Amino acid sequence: MDIGLSGFIKKLPLVSLPVIENLQISPGAFVLTVERISDFLPGQVVALSTDDKIAPRLYSICSAPDNEYLQVLFSLKPDGELTPLLARLKPGDTLRVSAPFGAFLGDDRPAWWIAAGTGVAPYRAMMLAGLAHNKKLIHGGRFANQFYFQDEFLDCLGESYIRCCSQETGDGLFSGRLTQWLREQVLPSEISFFLCGSVEMVVETRDILISKGVDIDNIMSEVYF
Ligand SMILES: Cc1cc2nc3c(=O)[nH]c(=O)nc-3n(C[C@H](O)[C@H](O)[C@H](O)COP(=O)(O)OP(=O)(O)OC[C@H]3O[C@@H](n4cnc5c(N)ncnc54)[C@H](O)[C@@H]3O)c2cc1C
Repeated sequence: MDIGLSGFIKKLPLVSLPVIENLQISPGAFVLTVERISDFLPGQVVALSTDDKIAPRLYSICSAPDNEYLQVLFSLKPDGELTPLLARLKPGDTLRVSAPFGAFLGDDRPAWWIAAGTGVAPYRAMMLAGLAHNKKLIHGGRFANQFYFQDEFLDCLGESYIRCCSQETGDGLFSGRLTQWLREQVLPSEISFFLCGSVEMVVETRDILISKGVDIDNIMSEVYF
């Protein structure tokens, strides 16, 4: 018997939608576009698969809630089961898509948005929904070409957009991991901290925030596993 989250995901009803676009925006990173057939809240996810034989995986929606299209950002795991199939999808191919769900929801209160890699996806949806005005975005990536949607974030957030690059140096990039950047900061009080990405990043970042006096109730996490 399937129990837990993977059992829940496998049981989600999926509908078939034609792929509208599958754009490689950086080596190994793709933005996949289908028609939006349901409303969603910025921060929510959909389950995706290519067919009924492949267990669906979850992806944060990275497009605007009022856009006629729904987009996700995914990174190719060459040894993975689903993402190599997703990467080969062409316009007109079928994608299986669940209704949006999830509780990692952006809101209008002041917050820091913290992301590693593709974990920046839900913050793009939140920004496009008009929630970025009192936010700081801290994005960690290994290479300079992994700051997905950086032109949009720079335009919208300016100096409140921090790119932490661990393996390369470059103009406007903090040289080091986002956790190193965070350790060097005096944190504002009375704001929320949103964390999205790998379990390693989320756990380490949460520990840093708590050690600096942040109340655990003010930390919202979305773990990509
Ligand atoms: C809430 C949520 C939101 C998410 N949002 C996004 C998103 O917006 N974008 C995104 O890119 N991802 C996101 N993810 C991750 C995504 O759901 C998938 O896990 C990811 O895309 C990998 O899928 P895959 O089928 O290609 O790899 P999988 O087949 O699931 O494998 C993942 C990795 O584990 C390795 N692996 C598999 N089996 C084994 C094994 N037995 N032993 C050792 N290693 C193994 C594979 O080689 C691969 O590198 C999210 C996850 C969650 C939970």
